[in-house]
Amino acid sequence: MSTYSAYFRCFRGCPGQWSLYEIIYTCPHCGGLLEVAHDTEALRKRSGSAWMRLFEDRAGTTVWPFGSGVWRYKEWVVPSLDDENIVSTFEGNTNLFRATRLGEQIGVPDLWVKQSGNSHTGSFKDLGMTVLVSVVKQMIRQGKPIRAIACASTGDTSASLAAYGATAGIPTIVFLPQGKVSREQLIQPIANGATVLALDTDFDGCMAIVKEVTRDNTIYLANSMNSLRIEGQKTVGIEVVQQFDWEVPDWFVIPVGNLGNISALGKGLLQMKELGLIDRLPRLAAAQAANANPFYQAYLNGFRERVQVKARTTLASAIQIGNPVSYEKAVATLQAFDGVVEEATEHELADAAAMADRTGLYTCPHTGVALAVLIKLVKKGIIRPHERVVVISTAHGLKFTQFKVGYHDDKLEGVEAHYANPPIYLPADVDIVRRTLDRKLKTA
Ligand SMILES: *Cc1c(COP(=O)(O)O)cnc(C)c1O
Ligand SMILES: [Zn+2]
Repeated sequence: MSTYSAYFRCFRGCPGQWSLYEIIYTCPHCGGLLEVAHDTEALRKRSGSAWMRLFEDRAGTTVWPFGSGVWRYKEWVVPSLDDENIVSTFEGNTNLFRATRLGEQIGVPDLWVKQSGNSHTGSFKDLGMTVLVSVVKQMIRQGKPIRAIACASTGDTSASLAAYGATAGIPTIVFLPQGKVSREQLIQPIANGATVLALDTDFDGCMAIVKEVTRDNTIYLANSMNSLRIEGQKTVGIEVVQQFDWEVPDWFVIPVGNLGNISALGKGLLQMKELGLIDRLPRLAAAQAANANPFYQAYLNGFRERVQVKARTTLASAIQIGNPVSYEKAVATLQAFDGVVEEATEHELADAAAMADRTGLYTCPHTGVALAVLIKLVKKGIIRPHERVVVISTAHGLKFTQFKVGYHDDKLEGVEAHYANPPIYLPADVDIVRRTLDRKLKTA
């Protein structure tokens, strides 16, 4: 029996607590978001340094399920899960790319890119999905009549849900905005056997439909409105700090859409401070695409007023969201971490991604948004040259081949492709090849 416990409570502070195995997504009193709360007194009985030792000992182990980068922190995530019900693909454990060359070009040499996209389905969404699907598996084992798990998605959540559902043998249903996700993202849930519904609307439209459909409690809702996912996603910041031998970087820069990820990042870091593993907090920078920037607009008005927009098309399709679900949590996070919000245009995000690729990365457009924002914040003097910066890369570049091809063919609307590097088509003639190489190497 675990001595630790966790439960749902209202994020706005209404009275009441609910079991994590209850089918409940929002507060029954105010309709706001729930959050997972932990028995901090019980967790405090172990010292900060004892937690650090435990987490170090588990890193890389094959002892189920602690080799996972999420379940390494099981007591902090969902302590009451039976290990046998955990549905894991060894998520987390992603590398920190030491981006010195890029950092020197930008003016922050101590730059690192957390490669969260180097994961089972190619995005950080796996961190949260392992938690949600594991809890559902335990609920089904306990006899809850759940027929399927469903989500609306901008592409990566559905890929992740489908893979974890298939791993567990639980049916999944995904709602995608037609024509607004990459080919790779569309084929992933199809391959994993999900029921894929491509609706003639945008993400916000899909979200409205899935909320209605999951009023029927036999279909469980997997969107990040469901705060179980936040508990898994919060391990990204903990893992980064552990990778730096428990030293806190000065900044995290993270691309944001529905605002679950930044809320999760903050939650994990705050828990580390609360439990004595760290004694200071980093600052956070939220990066938005200018074409879908409700959070940036709210930041500009000092968060006095919540802003909703009709999200316009952006290359950063996973963050093309006009009405972010986790808005209130993200505002609280920004305030706790002295955070800033900045935006990037289509041109800026595409050029930043290509510039990064020239230094060895292979960035998705969302990571491009974060990098473009980093460049701006350094130029403005908000992020300073000596500071250690971690950019959270949220997906693998291989999921966005059209973006890369379009860039290097210089065919992206609104983008001047400064780093385009198209192939050179030549006859198989060694003289022509030699002359071409001479010319090319001279200009390099
Ligand atoms: C989901 C996603 C994001 C944004 O995370 P939110 O929790 O929606 O703010 C960023 N990048 C990628 C690649 C994503 O899939
Ligand atoms: Zn409430």
